[in-house]
This record gives sequence, C-alpha cells and structure tokens, in this order.
Amino acid sequence: LFTAVEMAPRDPILGLNEQFNADPNPAKVNLGVGVYFDDNGKLPLLQCVQTAEKAMMDKPAARGYLPIDGIAAYDSAVKGLVFGADSEPVTSGRVATVQAIGGTGGLKIGADFLKKVSPDAKVLISDPSWENHRALFTNAGFTVETYAYYDAVQRGVNFDGMLASLNAAAPGTIVVLHACCHNPTGYDITPAQWDQVIAAVKARGLTPFLDMAYQGFGNGIAEDGAVIQKFVAAGLSFFVSTSFSKSFSLYGERVGALSVLCADKEEAARVLSQLKIAIRTNYSNPPTHGGAVVAAVLNNPELRALWEKELGEMRVRIKAMRQKLVDGLQAAGVKQDMGFMTQQIGMFSYSGLTKDQMVRLRSEFGVYGTDTGRICVAALNSKNIDYVCQSIAKVI
Ligand code: PMP
Repeated sequence: LFTAVEMAPRDPILGLNEQFNADPNPAKVNLGVGVYFDDNGKLPLLQCVQTAEKAMMDKPAARGYLPIDGIAAYDSAVKGLVFGADSEPVTSGRVATVQAIGGTGGLKIGADFLKKVSPDAKVLISDPSWENHRALFTNAGFTVETYAYYDAVQRGVNFDGMLASLNAAAPGTIVVLHACCHNPTGYDITPAQWDQVIAAVKARGLTPFLDMAYQGFGNGIAEDGAVIQKFVAAGLSFFVSTSFSKSFSLYGERVGALSVLCADKEEAARVLSQLKIAIRTNYSNPPTHGGAVVAAVLNNPELRALWEKELGEMRVRIKAMRQKLVDGLQAAGVKQDMGFMTQQIGMFSYSGLTKDQMVRLRSEFGVYGTDTGRICVAALNSKNIDYVCQSIAKVI
C-alpha cells in the first residue's frame, strides 16, 4: 500500500528546531522559532492564565463535548476583541464567529468554507508569507499565487507592487492579508496604505481574509486591531482568523477563532451553519481547556486588565530587544546601518542576512534563524544578545 509513498520534505522551521536540539554547542541560541521567550529564555506562563486555571481547578468541571462552534462566552469575547464589544457589527449580530484550533484552524475552516462558496477563486498570499498559508490553501483545493510585498533592496514593503498585484487580480480572488506584525518580514503597511489596499480590494471585488495572529504584539490591542475597523467602515464582508497562541502564550492549547463579517444577521446565521459543517467534518468540535481559559480571562475585568498588562510587557520587551540588537550590532563593529530593525514590528525581523550567512551563523556559532534571514527577536534576551550580535557581526 505504501511502497510508492514519498518522503515529504521536512517542515523548514520544525526541522531547524530538531537541528538546534541536536547541536552540542553550549552557547547555541534558537532564533528560528516563532515563539516569545522571557528574559530568562523561558516560555512564559501568564499570571492571568494561572489565575484562571486555578479558579477552574477549584471547581472542577466534567469535560463534555463543546458545541461545534465552541464556547459561546469565548466566541463573544473574540467578537468583542476583534470588532469591539459595542460595535455595530457585533450588536447587529452580523459577525459569525467560531472557536478554532489555533489560528491555523481558523484559516483552515475559512478555507474549506470558501472552497464551497467560491470554488474557482484563486488565493493570493504575500510574497513572502507565513509558510503555512500556501500549503493550507493549496490543500483546501485552491490555486495559490502571491502579491508583491517585500522589497529587499529598499528594506520595506514594495507598496506600489502590492497595489499593482491587487489591481490585477480577478474579481472574487481571495487575498490573505496579515492584519499586523507581518510574518516573516516584520514590515507592516501604514494606516494610509491600508486605506489604499481596502479601496483596491473593494474596487476589484476581492475577498479579504485577514490573518490576525499577533493582535497586541505590535503597538497595542486596539492599535493592531484598527485595520479591522477600516474594513468594517468600507462596508466589506471579510474573514478574520485569530490566534491566541502568542498573545496568551498558550501555543500548545491551540486556541484560535474564525470570524466572518456578513451583510446582516440572517446572512451570518447561514454562514455560521456552513462553518459548523466545515468544523464537524474536520474534527467535530473544539477542545475545552484553552478556550475556557481565554474566555475566563477576557470576560473578567480584573483578569483582562492583568492580561493586557502582561501582553504589554511582552510587547515592550520585544521592542527593547530590537533596539539592543541594533545598538549591539553597531558596538560589535557592523558598519552598515541596521536601524531598519527597529522599524520592523512584532516577533520577527528580516535581518537582510543571506542564506550563506545564516548557514554560517548556525554551523560556526550555533545561532539559528531561517535561511531567508528571518530571526525571532522575541527569543533574544539580556543574556544571549551580546553573543548574537558578535556572531552576526562576524558573518557580516
Ligand atoms: N498565521 C501566522 C501569520 C502565524 O505566524 C501563525 C503562527 N506562527 C499562525 C497563523 C498560526 O497560529 P497558531 O499557532 O495559533 O495556529
């Protein structure tokens, strides 16, 4: 049965992890993963999460099946976070939200639903994008192409190219947009550029799918979510996938969501019924624990305030590390201006290092980033930063 089965290529990032784990170098630093570590190099367990879990443990509950679309209190908290609890889309009932297995699950449920609604549509993702975007939409049956995004020479977004790609897309094309903290480049477009993107999306009749995996990691919860308000104001119907993996440091609990903004309440009910079929036929219903924790935090004013504080601390630490990286590279003798790294936002930096330099960083110094030059700034800390700067300086 399996004699003709080929070995699939290793996941580039998980493969890097395996290589890192096997590396005997005591000074090794893993900047390959998309995970936030604290200043001690540890994955944080947020206080707000611990408090919510303790309260749950004090009153242990049986684990029945959840509804197909998840915990109602969770879905409503997600709606509030993404659109604003008192916003017109939420109060009018025209948002269909389902709990999903991480942000990836939200994307997959959206992709499966879209395949039914627009079977012949193409999908456009940014060039480059999170690796899984292409694979996920391809697996859902779509042809996936790219829109221009990164400008390696100018170091930033090739915005004219991006607009040109969107303007050349056929009506109905699904456009996957990073709502904030673009992965992998770290370059976001400005609010004024978003206005132009939205105008193009509207004029061309494209279907926007916003991937919001880092709300709160860029400039703040409301600031990072502002792009959603712009799409709402434009009168568009669109998709938003949410991930709490990073913002709650709940990676392994797989907590995410998919929200679809519809024209009215009745349409949202029909869309929700179809999203439930996509869930039912993929994994039936979501797991309980992570969603219950996030719902408990978001729906309790004290815990929510604590979460916002802890999320803010992560955000501030990442920004501080960007500055330390730039300063440290200069101190280590790098002549070229690395100041662009502080213009980038979120977890990642496209460092501009070549594949050869990244390979040398790994083999000679045990500093791991992806071959594309992407490094995870959120894995830098006060103990490894000097070593990383000196290592980078040597390969430059
Ligand atoms: N989208 C982007 C852009 C991401 O970077 C990630 C996580 N690396 C995801 C989606 C998936 O999130 P999750 O781990 O919650 O499935």
